Amino acid sequence: MARYTDAVCRQCRREGQKLFLKGDRCYSDKCAATRRPYPPGQHGQGRKKNSEYGLQLREKQKARRFYGMLESQFSKYFDIAARTRGNTGEKLLRMLEMRLDNVVYRLGFAMSRPEARQLVNHGHFTVNGHKVDIPSCLVRPGDEVALCARSRNIEKIKTTMENNASRVPPKWLSLNQSTQSATVIGVPDREDIDLPVQEHLIVEFYSK
Ligand code: SF4
Repeated sequence: MARYTDAVCRQCRREGQKLFLKGDRCYSDKCAATRRPYPPGQHGQGRKKNSEYGLQLREKQKARRFYGMLESQFSKYFDIAARTRGNTGEKLLRMLEMRLDNVVYRLGFAMSRPEARQLVNHGHFTVNGHKVDIPSCLVRPGDEVALCARSRNIEKIKTTMENNASRVPPKWLSLNQSTQSATVIGVPDREDIDLPVQEHLIVEFYSK
């Protein structure tokens, strides 16, 4: 499967925004987006052109990179969102937010979405009692997401959970710290998705 193999910090520098892709490092003074706050590459510090198309493209790229997705996958989500009723931009963000890897990140089991994706890939989580190792699996209201019993003693996960103990999960997820499981109690509204993205620009990008 195709995947992004370049330095991930370049993505933050390209978007001019911290995307929090590297866990602890993102909160330290080693963060490349803080140390070199300009786009990567030879012409990174050159003149910027902000055309309408450029703004739409950047907004789409930012959202895509926040969730660690490739273009083909991201555009499929857009197609699904565009086919269903309601605000397309909000539906798109809602779908992205309900991916299993994002849910694992939001619950504080991982320090970043890429780390959450790896945990899911390695089969550390169950949905409704069944092991699920597909990060793009979409959860639904009523689903129960839990850390596998055999994974509860993994030191890295334990430490991350302790470090994230003060992090409050979004209101559409109900976390039970003692059983290391959570119930999806609804679908996220736009205000529950703390993503600095203007989704109407993404819709305009794909509507050309
Ligand atoms: Fe982005 Fe994190 Fe790298 Fe900073 S350390 S540039 S936030 S991935």
